Amino acid sequence: MRNTRWIAALLLAVLLALMPCALAEGTPSEAAEAEAYAALLPGDTGDAVVALQQRLIELGYLEGEPSGELDDDTAVALALFQADEGLEPDGEATAETQEALFAGAAVEGELTVDNAPYIANKNTKKFHIADCPSVKEMKDSNKVPFATKDEALEEGYKPCKRCNP
Ligand SMILES: [Zn+2]
Repeated sequence: MRNTRWIAALLLAVLLALMPCALAEGTPSEAAEAEAYAALLPGDTGDAVVALQQRLIELGYLEGEPSGELDDDTAVALALFQADEGLEPDGEATAETQEALFAGAAVEGELTVDNAPYIANKNTKKFHIADCPSVKEMKDSNKVPFATKDEALEEGYKPCKRCNP
């Protein structure tokens, strides 16, 4: 009985000693990841995967809508992009690949109603995929270009029910 208590106390002491260490290690690596990109693995899901797929779609390497999962189609699109960029076309979403993928955004030039993948309507407060028939009927003065769906949502625009962006 006395032995058990002693072991429990020892375990607790070890845990307490390790805990601040683990916390201290967590903070700087998280900060570093915010600047660079965290590598994504096949089967990964989440916002980072959606952003990756959106970018691949924008650049024409992937078709359709982001599935939100790093699937085979995404790996194929990544490999095509990597080949064009002179990277090893292994289809892996490494930090380096993501950096190259998103770096292009800055040099692509200004977003306009003619090149934006999404167009919102100032008047109806809805946003559309650029080739939605509603966009063709829209007055130019009401058009607001968006690079991503998230940005349009953040500005308070609602997705169009016709094109379902
Ligand atoms: Zn629409």
